[in-house]
Amino acid sequence: MSTADSATASAADSGAEGFATRAIHAGQAFDPTTGAVIPPIYQTSTFVQDGVGGLRGGYEYGRSGNPTRTSLETLIASLEGTPHGLSFASGLAAEDTLLRAVLEPGSHVVLGNDVYGGTHRLINRVHGAWGVTNTTVELGDLDAVRAAIRPGETRILWVETPSNPLMKISDIEALAELGHETGLIVVVDNTFASPALQQPIALGADVVVHSTTKYLGGHSDVIGGALAIVDDELAQKARFLQFAAGPISAPLDAWLTTRGIKTLAVRMQRHSENAQAIAEHLLGHPAIDAVYYPGLESHPGHELAARQMSGFGGMLSLALRGGPAAAKTLVESTSLFQLAESLGGVESLIGLPAEMTHASVKGTALEVPENVVRLSVGIEDVADLIADLDGALGRL
Ligand SMILES: *Cc1c(COP(=O)(O)O)cnc(C)c1O
Repeated sequence: MSTADSATASAADSGAEGFATRAIHAGQAFDPTTGAVIPPIYQTSTFVQDGVGGLRGGYEYGRSGNPTRTSLETLIASLEGTPHGLSFASGLAAEDTLLRAVLEPGSHVVLGNDVYGGTHRLINRVHGAWGVTNTTVELGDLDAVRAAIRPGETRILWVETPSNPLMKISDIEALAELGHETGLIVVVDNTFASPALQQPIALGADVVVHSTTKYLGGHSDVIGGALAIVDDELAQKARFLQFAAGPISAPLDAWLTTRGIKTLAVRMQRHSENAQAIAEHLLGHPAIDAVYYPGLESHPGHELAARQMSGFGGMLSLALRGGPAAAKTLVESTSLFQLAESLGGVESLIGLPAEMTHASVKGTALEVPENVVRLSVGIEDVADLIADLDGALGRL
C-alpha cells in the first residue's frame, strides 16, 4: 500500500524502470548542446528549416509540435503506461479533443452521476448542441450501467474514480470489461488519484484523461490537461485535432507541469498520509456527520480502493451536522486551509462544492448536498493542519 509498491508493480507490468524513476527521467534527457541537466524551455513559435521541408528534429511550427511539449507528452505516456501521450491547455481542452476524436452527431455517452461538473457541462451543453446525447448513471451499479448502454449508439463509457466530492470508488476493471463487451471506449479521468496511486490502463481502460492542473502540476501555478491513449488510430485522430484546432499546452506551461511531476511520487505519499490522519482525527467529531475518505474502513469503497489504488490520496469531504450554515462558517474560518476552487497542490485548500466547484450542476441529479465541505489536503505538517481544522470547528 505504498507508492513504492505501485512503482514496483508498474515496473513489472511494463518492464520499465520504477514509477518514481520514470517521473524524474522519462522524456527528460539533458540538453546535448550545453549539457544542461534540465532540458530548456523552447520558447519559440517556429523552427528554421535547412532548405524547404528540411526540418531539424521534426519540428516545424509550435502548434504542431514543440520539444518542451514532447518532453511532457513522453513523460505522461510513460507514467500511464500508454504508447501515446498528448498535452493540452487545460483538462477540459484535453477532454474536448478526445470527445471530438470519438463522437459524431447521434453518438451517446454514458458517464457517472457524480462526474466532474465541467465534464458534464462539456458533454451535455457543448457536445449536446452537436447532437451528442448522454446518460448519467451510478457507476457502482453494473446492471444500471449495462442498461444505460445503447448498442450501436453509445461510444464512450466515462469513469471518474475517486469521484468528486464524495470520493465514491468505481471498479475500473469491471467497468472496462463491461464497456468492451459492447465495443465502447472506456475513459478514466485519473485526476484525483494520479498515476502514482492508480494505473487505469493496467486495469483495462483505453484512455486516461487528466487535469494536470491538479496533482501532476502539483503547485497550483499552471492550468493544463493530458490524454494517455492506447490505440494508435485514436491517438492519431486526437493528435490531428490537437494540431487542427490548437488547444495545445504552451512551452512554459508544459515545462512547469514536467517540473511538478518529478516529485509526484513523494507528494502523493505525503498527501495520502496527511489526509488519512485528518480523516481519522475528524471521524466521530461532534460537529461532523460523515467523513468521506476511501482510506477509512467505514468508507463503502474502502476495499475496492485498497485493491485498485496504491494509496488513498489527498482528497476528503465532510458532511457538517449543523447543515449548510455550519459548512459555510467552517470554510470561512480556517487559515492554513485556504478557501479556493481547485485541488492537488502542495498547499491545503477548503471549499464548499455546492456553491463553488459544483455550482453548475445545482438542481440536477449531480447536485452535491449543501452541508458538504471538501478538503484538498496539502503536504504541510499534519499537526498544523489538524490544529487549523480543530480551531475552525470549535467556532461552529
Ligand atoms: C479540474 C478537473 C477537470 C478539468 O480540468 P481543467 O484543467 O480545470 O480544465 C477535469 N476533471 C477533474 C476530475 C477535475 O478535477
